[in-house]
Amino acid sequence: MRIVDIIKDSKPSLSFEVFPPKTTDKYDVISNAVKEIAALNPSYMSVTYGAGGGTSEYTSKIAQEVQSYGVTSLAHLSCISSNKAQIENELNKLKALGINNILALRGDRVNSVADEKTPDFKYAYELIDAIKAKGGFCIGGACYPESHPESATVKSDLEYLKLKVEHGCDFLTTQMFFDNNIFYSFLENTQNIGINVPIVAGLMPITAMSQLERIVYLSGNALPDKFLKIVDRFSNDPLSFRKASIEYTINQAIDIYSNGINAVHIYSMNKSDVAKEIQNNLWDIIR
Ligand code: FAD
Repeated sequence: MRIVDIIKDSKPSLSFEVFPPKTTDKYDVISNAVKEIAALNPSYMSVTYGAGGGTSEYTSKIAQEVQSYGVTSLAHLSCISSNKAQIENELNKLKALGINNILALRGDRVNSVADEKTPDFKYAYELIDAIKAKGGFCIGGACYPESHPESATVKSDLEYLKLKVEHGCDFLTTQMFFDNNIFYSFLENTQNIGINVPIVAGLMPITAMSQLERIVYLSGNALPDKFLKIVDRFSNDPLSFRKASIEYTINQAIDIYSNGINAVHIYSMNKSDVAKEIQNNLWDIIR
């Protein structure tokens, strides 16, 4: 099924993200987590693509596994470290495996020297052109309620986002955010500039203080007072922190659904227990 049709449905959607292993020895553990998350029967599951293309083989394999459980998969694909022939190859592979949904990304620069040697793709919109030319895929793109870190201004980021959508995005998924008001203003800004595709809200449940330090502080997300109070109160009590933080994500999702936005994506990072807890709590809304 096309992701855009799932998220345009009048029924609220809840999807989960998994990441593939970097090495074969981790495959079974991750494959098992994927199976457990798929058993929750989410609206769809996305499978990330390792920076620099390192996990390309496993991204398509895990995406295929997801579909073997009857759940639609969304395969991420980044382009900055690939040339045209490599992307063509990936697209042929996804097509052959019956994976019809792609999140088209530029990818982060992992090695600027190598990236400069493969100048076929500089921005995500060029990958979107290549996917469009191939035909038959539903295409998603990334967007940033708090602006992409490399953007000169909020305005230029929105203008480039509009350009990306015009090149053929069927939908967008946001970077994680913790302040729903930032998301709502972003939605308003996208509408004002004429971006009309559906936007999926990406939420990250922070289950450990180490994750907060590694992911959130590095990416510069704004943390509202309500979340900072959880950090202050429970940072030395891992179980309570986990519980309160998951509850925070659930409340963010409820607020988003209540505001008439139907699509929520959880950056579940292969944690099937967390995915299950969130799904159970939202069951009455999404069933
Ligand atoms: P682009 O849309 O190309 O934008 C990148 C920057 O360039 C922005 O600052 C933009 O404003 C600017 N820009 C765009 N077009 C132009 C133009 N024509 N001229 C000048 N400037 C321009 N990374 C991975 O490696 N693997 C993943 O699986 C992955 N999944 C992700 C999922 C989501 C939902 C999100 C939000 C991000 C994900 N990322 C992933 C991270 C992403 O690859 C990085 O954030 C990357 O730095 C930007 O990718 P993009 O597709 O948004 O790039």
